[in-house]
Amino acid sequence: MDRALLQRRLTERGEPAYRAEQVWDWAARGVTGYSQMTNLPGELRTELEGEVPFSTLELEREAKASDGTVKALFRTQGGHAVEAVLMRFRDGRRSVCLSSQSGCPLTCRFCATGQMRFGRNLTVSEILDQALHFRRTEPIDHAVFMGMGEPMLNLEPVLEAARALPDVGITWRRTTISTVGWLPGLRRFVDEVEEPIRLAFSLHAPTDELRGELMPVNERFPLADVLAECSRYFELRRRKVFVEYVMLRGVNDRVEQARALAKLLDPRVFKVNLIPYNPTGMYEGSSPKAIAAFKNVLGSARLPVTVRLTRGRDIAAACGQLAAG
Ligand code: SAH
Repeated sequence: MDRALLQRRLTERGEPAYRAEQVWDWAARGVTGYSQMTNLPGELRTELEGEVPFSTLELEREAKASDGTVKALFRTQGGHAVEAVLMRFRDGRRSVCLSSQSGCPLTCRFCATGQMRFGRNLTVSEILDQALHFRRTEPIDHAVFMGMGEPMLNLEPVLEAARALPDVGITWRRTTISTVGWLPGLRRFVDEVEEPIRLAFSLHAPTDELRGELMPVNERFPLADVLAECSRYFELRRRKVFVEYVMLRGVNDRVEQARALAKLLDPRVFKVNLIPYNPTGMYEGSSPKAIAAFKNVLGSARLPVTVRLTRGRDIAAACGQLAAG
C-alpha cells in the first residue's frame, strides 16, 4: 500500500490524524482489503477502495515447490517484474525473501538475476507489499533481503521498509540485509543503523583475483576494504557478519581455497554459510563430498560454518534463480 498516497487522501478528506496508522495496523496484520477494517467508517472504506490500491504490486503468478516454498511474481504499476519467496521450515519458521530492486545492475556470473535487464529501485511500499502478500496467508517471522537486487544500492527505502517490519511480525534481529560489498551503502549502513538488523556479505572467493572473475563489482571495491567495513560493523554493533559462499565445482571449492578463506576471516567477526549452487546454466555445483571437506577445513580453524538448506529449487525460487521467468 502506498502510505504516502493514503496519507494524502486522508488529509484531503479531513480525516483525523490517527486514521493512517489505523489503516496500516490492519494491513500489517494481514487483512485482505479495506472492507475488513471494521473501525473505519463504511463510507471511508469504500472510498479508499476506489482511490488507494490495497497493494502497489499486482500478483501475476505464484508457484509452490514440493518443499512448501512459495514464489510470487509481481508487477509494479509500471510493469516492472518483482519476485519474492516464502520459505517454510520444519521447525515452524516462516521466512520471506524480499527484493530491493527489479532486476539487478550488477552482473555476478553465477546469478540469474544479473542476467536479466535491470528495471529500477523499488519503493518502500513495493518492498513492504511483498511481505504483506505472504502475511495475508500466514504469520511470518523472518526476513532476508536476498531477493532481486542489491540492497545497498537502494539503501534508504530498504531501511525504511526494514524498520517497519516489526509491525508485520518480523523483529529487527530476524531481519538480514545481504550485500555484494557495495561500499558506499555498506559504510552508511554501518555508521547509521542502530537497530539490531543483521548483515550478510556475499563473498564467494578468498582472493581478489578469483572474486573479480566471478563478481565484476570486486574491481570497484576490493576485498580488504569490504572486510574491514564488516569488522567495523562487528566492533560497533557486536553482531557477527554472515558470509555467503556459493560452492562452484572446480572454481572456488578446493581445500587450499578453504584454507585461504580460514586465514582471511576472523572467527570472532564472521560466520560462514556455504550455499550449494543452484543451477543457472553457468557453472556446476560442488559435490556434497567437496562441500563437506571444505566445511571441515573451516571448522578446524574454529570458523563457525553451516551449509544452507536449499529451498524451492524445483520452481526456480532458490538463491540466484530469481529472474522473473
Ligand atoms: N545482491 C545481494 C542480495 C542478493 S542475496 C547479494 O548478492 O548479497 C542472494 C544470494 O544468493 C547472494 O549471496 C548470491 O551471491 C547468492 N547466489 C547467486 N546466485 C546463486 C546461485 N546460482 N546459487 C546459489 N546462490 C546464489
